[in-house]
Amino acid sequence: MNANGVANLQTKTHLVFIKRCLSLLLVFIMVLSTPFVSKQALAQNQVDNIRVTHQRGTTRVVLDVKDEAKFSYFSLSNPQRLVVDFTGTKDGIDFDRYDLKGPLVKRIRHSTPKSANDMRLVFDLNKKVEARVFSLQATQDFGHRVVVDLKDPNPVPEQVLSTVAAPQRDQDIVIVIDAGHGGADPGSIGPKGTYEKNITLSISKMLEALINNESGLRAVMTRSGDYYISPNDRPDVAIRENADLLVSIHADAFTTPQPRGGSVWVLSKGRADSELGRLLEQTERSSELIGSAANVIEDRDTERYFAETIFNMSMDLSRASSYDISNKVISEMKKVTRMHKKAPQSASLAVLTAPETPSILVEVGFISNPQEEKNLNWREYRQRLANSMFTSIKRYFKVNPPEGTLWAKRLASEPIKHKVARGESLSVIAQRYSVSVKDLKEANNLRSDMVRIGQVLLIPN
Ligand SMILES: [Zn+2]
Repeated sequence: MNANGVANLQTKTHLVFIKRCLSLLLVFIMVLSTPFVSKQALAQNQVDNIRVTHQRGTTRVVLDVKDEAKFSYFSLSNPQRLVVDFTGTKDGIDFDRYDLKGPLVKRIRHSTPKSANDMRLVFDLNKKVEARVFSLQATQDFGHRVVVDLKDPNPVPEQVLSTVAAPQRDQDIVIVIDAGHGGADPGSIGPKGTYEKNITLSISKMLEALINNESGLRAVMTRSGDYYISPNDRPDVAIRENADLLVSIHADAFTTPQPRGGSVWVLSKGRADSELGRLLEQTERSSELIGSAANVIEDRDTERYFAETIFNMSMDLSRASSYDISNKVISEMKKVTRMHKKAPQSASLAVLTAPETPSILVEVGFISNPQEEKNLNWREYRQRLANSMFTSIKRYFKVNPPEGTLWAKRLASEPIKHKVARGESLSVIAQRYSVSVKDLKEANNLRSDMVRIGQVLLIPN
């Protein structure tokens, strides 16, 4: 071994020493960080809600979770089961409270998880199914979800599905009128004891009569008497009827007698940002609670989920139309009553959630204001309010008639009018509308080719 070799050996010994030190350091770091790792494992996710739908041999279970979920799943047979293990998750709900039975699912229950911080769900099944479990990220309208799809490999054949194209739509423009509250739910009560539910029904019936008297329009009432319907069931009427508009009529109260005037509400994407909006959300929700517990699981919610993207798109479309109609209602209503708000307001209201139907909620005034309570008890005043809503609805649909309706046909066959501008000759105008000069002259009873500025010409079809 020469001097160089000794130096090499020394360097090697140094290297080994440094390596050992590094490994020790690493172990030390790992030991130190262990408490943090276990703390993170303790972080709890939570299941907040569960919904089930059955459709053509498929059962879909949607679990709403607080955060993005970590899970694994496997199937067991004899008896058939699906087991889903959620890591670091607890459930905020009692599954036994929900009726989750269906053609494929016998029962959904908890079972002992592998670790205390986890949650194990067992789906007791009626038969062998194809199972798929996946998670969905939160969107603007929905939170994080875990979806359990159970597919029957041999579904009972459906009744023969019609291949005929969907029937042509109703020639009438369908307007669902929703009289707020009803039955066990009186709504707000005025200082003189006036019930909101009676005021809303009266105005709704007036509006119904006006609409049904107009050719090409048809009204459908969510309730026509004094009985209770949950706010969740009201938009279903619009969905069932393929309605072109839903108008929900209310006359709510405020905590103090001062506020007065009407307002028009559309669905917001999030929670309401005004005090009044939050109050309105609250009163709507409390009347929801009067309804049966079965409404806790909304089928509609899950149906919506099936076509979420389409839902969001049509929702945006409906929102835009709702806003447009609201502005027209405000401009007509302010001829009858003071408006509390000059622009449409938005809040998260169950009644406004029919995805394809523009939906608005009209607050005709504050029943808590003594003067407005008095006004609302006056028939003529209620009639004026109904008239103003009717006029605004007509104004809207005259310009925006849904395709396939009588009003759309009417609009299409309406002759086009042209006001003659400086420098325009008859032949220029004829060319512009692709009609002959002869037809143009005939349609307007013109003897010569002369036209004057400002003259209005009918353009033949
Ligand atoms: Zn109300």
